[in-house]
Amino acid sequence: MSQCSFTELGVAEPLLRALRAENYAHPTPIQDQAIPQLLAGKDLLGIAQTGTGKTAAFALPILQHLSAGRPGENGTYGGKRESGGRNRRRSTPRVLPRALILAPTRELAIQIGESFRAYGRRLPLRHTVILGGVGQNPQVRALSNGVDILVATPGRLLDLKEQGHVRLNQISHLVLDEADLMLDMGFLRDVRKIMASLPAKRQTMLFSATMPSDVSRLAREILNDPVRVEVSPRVITVEQVDQRVFFTDASNKRSLLTHLLQDADMSRVIVFVRTKRGASRLAEQLGKAGFPTEAIHGNKTQNARQSALANFRNGRARLLVATDVAARGIDISGVSHVINYELPNIPESYVHRVGRTARAGAEGIALSFCDSSERTFLRDIERVTKRPITIVENHLHQCTTTPRGQMPSGPSPSGRSAPKRRDASGPSRPGSRRSGSDGNVPKRQISPGGSTSNGSKPEYPGFSGERTAPGGAVPSVPRKRRKRRSRYRVSAAR
Ligand code: AMP
Repeated sequence: MSQCSFTELGVAEPLLRALRAENYAHPTPIQDQAIPQLLAGKDLLGIAQTGTGKTAAFALPILQHLSAGRPGENGTYGGKRESGGRNRRRSTPRVLPRALILAPTRELAIQIGESFRAYGRRLPLRHTVILGGVGQNPQVRALSNGVDILVATPGRLLDLKEQGHVRLNQISHLVLDEADLMLDMGFLRDVRKIMASLPAKRQTMLFSATMPSDVSRLAREILNDPVRVEVSPRVITVEQVDQRVFFTDASNKRSLLTHLLQDADMSRVIVFVRTKRGASRLAEQLGKAGFPTEAIHGNKTQNARQSALANFRNGRARLLVATDVAARGIDISGVSHVINYELPNIPESYVHRVGRTARAGAEGIALSFCDSSERTFLRDIERVTKRPITIVENHLHQCTTTPRGQMPSGPSPSGRSAPKRRDASGPSRPGSRRSGSDGNVPKRQISPGGSTSNGSKPEYPGFSGERTAPGGAVPSVPRKRRKRRSRYRVSAAR
């Protein structure tokens, strides 16, 4: 947190009162850096993850500008009114939107909408959230009543625009939130179409947790002489999270999970899987095994997703089985553990998953289950996070298969030379490339009796040892960029 105050950043009184009501004593670093620049009207490139306070960083200046009537200063409370008064056509809204916030997922859009409600509660500005998965009529009604601020997922916004329910020709403030996920989800075309209908003269803000080349290219296209604000380090780290990996077989993962869940400390757990069907199946199986579980994924209706989240938040469900796309951006406090039941093939997704625990400065625990087909994913993850993940050894569901070219410990008995690119998650092999420590990372051992060398108890039932993967990441090997593909169906957020 910054030592300076929101007043010093230039935030005006009605907003200050709302911030006091939210108990925001000081700005977060992204707010500290972004708010004065945005109040001055600059475009902004913000490299920040969810959880940094980035929503307030863009929402407060937008609310302040709109309530001051800038830049379309021709209506009451700054709202741009259509001419025509009483004789206006029924479909013509009284107030046209002047701020548009595009978010990749429905949950994130809802959260942003809630933030605008909270921060703008003392201002006579209206906002609405446009998203798929629910009927469009209430959204059409809200639009025709007139809104100042639109928070939207791209697919539904485009649908409504094409049906003539929304006009974007008065937009003076545009935010592209979670731009990296937006492109991952295949929304680039929709975003471009939306951009084409916006006035050229506007203030534009782009926020992204990571800055791959396609996001940089988009930023160059849409931002005008932007200020760059970066609050997460360029190399993504997840330092506050205690990260461990269990090498196991795919067929043993469920038994491993239910075994670990006997630990009552695992009180609020998000379990990540890769597919929607896998999420439903696992949630059902865990439910049958007696663990109160909810699932959240793109095939669920919006109402089902909201009710699953509510049950998880209020503690009725101990487990939330989620896919990446559904869980990204959601803010749930008090998550005790994140379990990567299946490792993601995109390292950044791992960072986002793990970031669900250890929120707001708390420490968290992330456990990953890695079968033989996922070792490459693990290696990529360690290379990006530049942090070795502690291997849990001698647990009850140890993998029985040895991945090709890799051994659970020591060099290959066949004497075959080690593969060129070391599995960063894997154990030490002579001659393999190492990071700065050169592999001499001391092993943290747990004795068979169950206590560590410093006398503490192991945290998890079912295993008697652990060790830290030597060397961890392989920074000396340049990371070959994986071709970014649209990995999710575009319909996910429609
Ligand atoms: P965001 O990154 O915008 O999703 O924000 C993450 C969480 O931080 C939300 O729960 C916000 O309510 C909270 N938050 C944002 N700004 C502040 C602040 N200045 N002080 C305390 N909490 C904040």
